[in-house]
Amino acid sequence: MFVLRKNSPQPQDKDFLEVNTTKIPSLENLGLEDFQQDSRSAFPFKGGEDEALKRIQHYFWDTCQLQYYKKTRNGLVGADYSSKLSAWLANGSISAKTIYWEVKKFEKQIKKNQSTYWLIFELIWRDYFKYISLKHGNKIFQLGGILNKNLDWNNDKKMLQEWINGKTKEPFVNANMKEIAATGFMSNRGRQNVNSFWAKELQQDWRIGAAYFESLLLDYDVHSNWGNWMYNSGVGNDPRDRKFNIKTQAKRYDPDQKYQQTWLGGQRELF
Ligand SMILES: Cc1cc2nc3c(=O)[nH]c(=O)nc-3n(C[C@H](O)[C@H](O)[C@H](O)COP(=O)(O)OP(=O)(O)OC[C@H]3O[C@@H](n4cnc5c(N)ncnc54)[C@H](O)[C@@H]3O)c2cc1C
Repeated sequence: MFVLRKNSPQPQDKDFLEVNTTKIPSLENLGLEDFQQDSRSAFPFKGGEDEALKRIQHYFWDTCQLQYYKKTRNGLVGADYSSKLSAWLANGSISAKTIYWEVKKFEKQIKKNQSTYWLIFELIWRDYFKYISLKHGNKIFQLGGILNKNLDWNNDKKMLQEWINGKTKEPFVNANMKEIAATGFMSNRGRQNVNSFWAKELQQDWRIGAAYFESLLLDYDVHSNWGNWMYNSGVGNDPRDRKFNIKTQAKRYDPDQKYQQTWLGGQRELF
């Protein structure tokens, strides 16, 4: 790793770059227990820019999955239904610009289609939620959201435990809640469904759900998390204010119940 120090040589000097030999401490060095990644994870994340670039190499160039992104992005099982770049973006290991220019290169060299456009479109959502935070400030954390909506909200501790532990009446919600607890990741489709179920079906304070996500997500990003939570809870940017029919969603996106089987195993209840 190279670092630029104060009073260090200037770019034109030959000794400009200084080698940093500091060792990155292990979890054990920090007094924490090591852990094993859940083998079912769709998100086998490893930190750092090099790993982010390897993921781009895999998703864009080795497998060319990018050209199918629009068709697969609502998937639930496996590492390649979406780019899985979110955690590196969230912690600053890679920039949206780097990804944008890599998409442009792919469009020139391999294929330009709706899928390549759609990845950029999703990155624009990410930017848009940053803009929403800048525009509305602390409102993104308030019960009425950016719309100042006065809705009926509840705070039921038993429901919270059931939702967190994947013990609700909806197996599809349960599978997703098990996934986030075990891996720190959940697909976009899953996030929309468990959010809608918590806020619109159970009518529980949406901010509790957002805070729970904040405590677990490897890709936690203040703007994307709170912006999406507001959106799906009826106090944000969704002009249609939709409520998901969880059973219909499960049938559409997990028709063979492979996802539910992965996370619920024997406990899975049928539709
Ligand atoms: C309730 C809820 C909470 C969320 N919380 C977060 C969060 O804390 N951090 C986070 O990065 N994303 C969040 N998202 C957005 C989205 O679910 C994740 O970015 C996505 O699932 C990450 O997987 P991916 O990198 O494979 O995404 P891809 O589908 O490959 O998308 C590429 C990139 O576009 C951006 N993106 C995609 N969808 C969205 C979206 N809806 N809003 C904003 N940016 C998007 C992400 O940076 C993502 O890495 C949330 C969505 C919901 C519904």
